[in-house]
Amino acid sequence: MSQDYYSLLEVAKDATPEDIKKAYRKQAVKYHPDKNPGDPSAEEKFKQIGEAYEVLKDPEKRSAYDRMGHTAFKSGGRASPGGGTYHDPFDIFREVFGGGGMGGGSGGGIFEEFFSTGNSGGGAQGQQGNDLRYDMEITLEEALQGLEREISYRCQKACTHCEGNGAEPGSKVVVCRTCGGQGKVIASRGFFKIQQVCPTCNGVGRVPEQKCTHCQGSGRSVVTHKLKVRLPAGVDTGSKLRSAGNGDAGTAGAPAGDLYVFIHVKEHEIFERQGVDLFCEIPIKFTLAALGGTIEVPTLTGKASLKIPPATQSGTTFRLRGNGMPDLRTKQKGDQLIRVQIEVPTKLTTEQRDKLEAFAVACGDAENPVSESFFEKAKKLF
Ligand SMILES: [Zn+2]
Ligand SMILES: [Zn+2]
Repeated sequence: MSQDYYSLLEVAKDATPEDIKKAYRKQAVKYHPDKNPGDPSAEEKFKQIGEAYEVLKDPEKRSAYDRMGHTAFKSGGRASPGGGTYHDPFDIFREVFGGGGMGGGSGGGIFEEFFSTGNSGGGAQGQQGNDLRYDMEITLEEALQGLEREISYRCQKACTHCEGNGAEPGSKVVVCRTCGGQGKVIASRGFFKIQQVCPTCNGVGRVPEQKCTHCQGSGRSVVTHKLKVRLPAGVDTGSKLRSAGNGDAGTAGAPAGDLYVFIHVKEHEIFERQGVDLFCEIPIKFTLAALGGTIEVPTLTGKASLKIPPATQSGTTFRLRGNGMPDLRTKQKGDQLIRVQIEVPTKLTTEQRDKLEAFAVACGDAENPVSESFFEKAKKLF
C-alpha cells in the first residue's frame, strides 16, 4: 500500500507549490542514496519521495490525486492529461456540477466552477523556469583555498526588448480570448471533457496584442549569462552549489529556476584526497631509512621538513598535522599522510658494491625485527 504523498513530503494538503518544492528538496537531501550508502530503506524512501513530487508538483496530477488518491495513477502507470484519470465520467460530473466546490461569486458558470475546484492556486499562471546544471572543474589547490570564478552559460532570460511581457513596446497585453484569461480550456471528446493548457496563451491567460519582434512573444530569449561563483574552501568532487534564481527565467512573472554548480576536482600528480586528509607516497634512500635524518617533503602549498627516525621500515606512514584539506563546515584542516617507500639503488659503483659486501659480512647472521617475525610465522608452515 502506497503511503500518502502529502505525508511522504511532510506537507499539508493545502500546501502551495513553493512549499511542496521546498519540502521535496529537504526530504530528497535527507534520503539521498549518496548520504545513506548501503541503506535500502532510505533508497526506497527516496524513490517514493520522487514519485510523490512528480504528482504534487503538477497541478493537474495533483488535482487528480486529491480526488482519487493513488487509484488515479494505477491504470496507465503514469497519469497524463488525457490519460485514464480525466476520462472518469463520475469525476467530471462531480466537478462540473459543483459537488463541494465553492462556486465563486462572479457569475458562477459551469466552467468557472470546474476551474475553481481543479486548481487550488486558482486562475492562470506562468511556468517556473528550468533549473540548470553547470559542471566546473577545479584543481586540488583551488579546492584547498576556495575560489571565485566567473562562469558563463547559456540560459533563458527575460527579453530585454519587451521586458518579459512578450508585447512589442507600445502595444498592450490583453486577456486571452481563447480561454478568457483562465489559462486552461475544456476540450470535448465525445461525452468526456478534458481540461487542457490553453494553446493560445500557453496557460498564461494573457496575450500580447502585437508580439515582441525580438522574442516572438515568448517573453524570453536565450542569452549567455555571466555569473561570479564563489566556492568555499574544502569543496570536493560531488559538491553541489545552488545559485537561487540563476536558472532559466519563468514565464509571465513565474519565478526563475536555480543554477546548480557541480564540482569536479582534478586528479593531482602527487596527492590523493582521503576525506580531509591528503595522502602521498615518497621514496627515501635505504641508508636514510636505516640511519635516520630529515628530508624535505612537498605539501599542497609548498614544502615541509619531515624527520625520519632511524630504522624506519618501508611503508611506514607519517602524519603532518593540519596540512590536509579544510572541512567544508568546520574549516578544520585534516592531515597530510606520507607513506615512505624505501628505494634500493639500481646501479652500484665497484667501490659501493665492495662496501656493501663488507657491510653484509659485518651484519653476519644478525636478523632484523621484521624478518624475525616473518620467519617465526613461516616456521609454522614448514
Ligand atoms: Zn520580447
Ligand atoms: Zn489562453
